Amino acid sequence: MSRKAVRSRGVAVLGSTGSIGTTALRVIARQPGRFHVAALTAFANASLLASQECATKPSFVGLVSPNGVVAPANWRLGVSSLVEAATRDDVDIVLNAVVGAAGLDATLAALEAGKRVALANKETLVVAGELAAAACARGGGEIVPVDSEHSAILQCLGRRDRTDVRRLIITASGGPFRTWSAEAIGAATLADALRHPTWSMGRKITIDSATLANKALEVIEAHFLFGLPYESIEIVVHPQSVVHSMVEFVDGSVLAQMGAPSMELPVLYALTHPERVADDGVPPFDPVAHSPLTFERVRLADFPALRLGLEAARAGGAAPAVFNAANEQSVALFLEGRMSFADIAAGIDAALARLGAMSGKDKDSLLAADAAARAFVAARAEHC
Ligand code: NAD
Ligand code: MG
Repeated sequence: MSRKAVRSRGVAVLGSTGSIGTTALRVIARQPGRFHVAALTAFANASLLASQECATKPSFVGLVSPNGVVAPANWRLGVSSLVEAATRDDVDIVLNAVVGAAGLDATLAALEAGKRVALANKETLVVAGELAAAACARGGGEIVPVDSEHSAILQCLGRRDRTDVRRLIITASGGPFRTWSAEAIGAATLADALRHPTWSMGRKITIDSATLANKALEVIEAHFLFGLPYESIEIVVHPQSVVHSMVEFVDGSVLAQMGAPSMELPVLYALTHPERVADDGVPPFDPVAHSPLTFERVRLADFPALRLGLEAARAGGAAPAVFNAANEQSVALFLEGRMSFADIAAGIDAALARLGAMSGKDKDSLLAADAAARAFVAARAEHC
């Protein structure tokens, strides 16, 4: 019997020079004939982008911030290159690995254009989950998560009806401060916060994993991806990062998805869902090597950024966008050494108190709330 011919699908990798972007290029390189790189974009790392262009021969390359670099004549420059890459005819799948709300327009445009969005850029759904759903409905696009927890949930759900689900249980590594006292966490340095125990990731999400703000972003992401109310989404700490998340069904049975902590697996699955393709990028799973697997309650009182994110989620409107923007701005200041670790949550708290009730009725209101929160946190840091 002859094998069915498979058309190679064009992938636009947005944020190709980052942690997820480079992981995606490795995964795609192992699947020639099934996927090819159709477009690449990066923020400012022109030399890595140029070497990626040589290796993958895309038809489109975009550099958001040329910053004085003399870019090749065929490159598109500026922020509009993200939407251009995401909506091209030769692009079937947009792998959005941009960090932060900067990825929003490209996600929405790709969904309007009927593309699959393999979404690492969780901030898109936090800022504008309802707009993304509306863009899917209008344009026929779909979101398939790259985030390991959401990929796990999608794989556990399979084709089952959502009414079969009682609860989503999202696992959290607990980050570098899982066992630290509240006082020690308050005095944590940048080096401490960048030392993640199980995952190697970009700097922003590494700090989000230390404050646990990342889990709040992921709860909101899960709410919009799977359509479950916040009361049905829980977090459990699992330090080994082997169980990527669990789904409890109405009869009490629980399915979990497991694997070594490598983003190559969820990246590949986001490209192939609902199919699976043979791939040998990750060594065979050895349960004994990963044992024991342990689970703990999350220490909500000692990780205020997580608590604030969960409160913002429930408040709705522009509150999640304010939470996200205040967090992005605070983390940027912390990474520059201009804010303490404890101030990240304090800045988010103050921003939500001042701006959390802003309107979130449309994209302009959400962008206004985002901009106000960034300005608020920056001004507050100046005066501290
Ligand atoms: P990273 O910092 O390593 O890479 C970010 C990429 O986005 C880079 O290519 C950079 O050039 C580009 N970029 C940065 N700012 C930009 C802007 N303003 N406009 C356009 N492009 C911009 O980040 P990462 O760790 O790869 O994370 C990317 C996204 O994936 C984040 O939303 C993160 O939360 C999510 N994510 C990451 C991991 C991981 O393991 N790294 C896991 C799950 C989810
Ligand atoms: Mg995750």
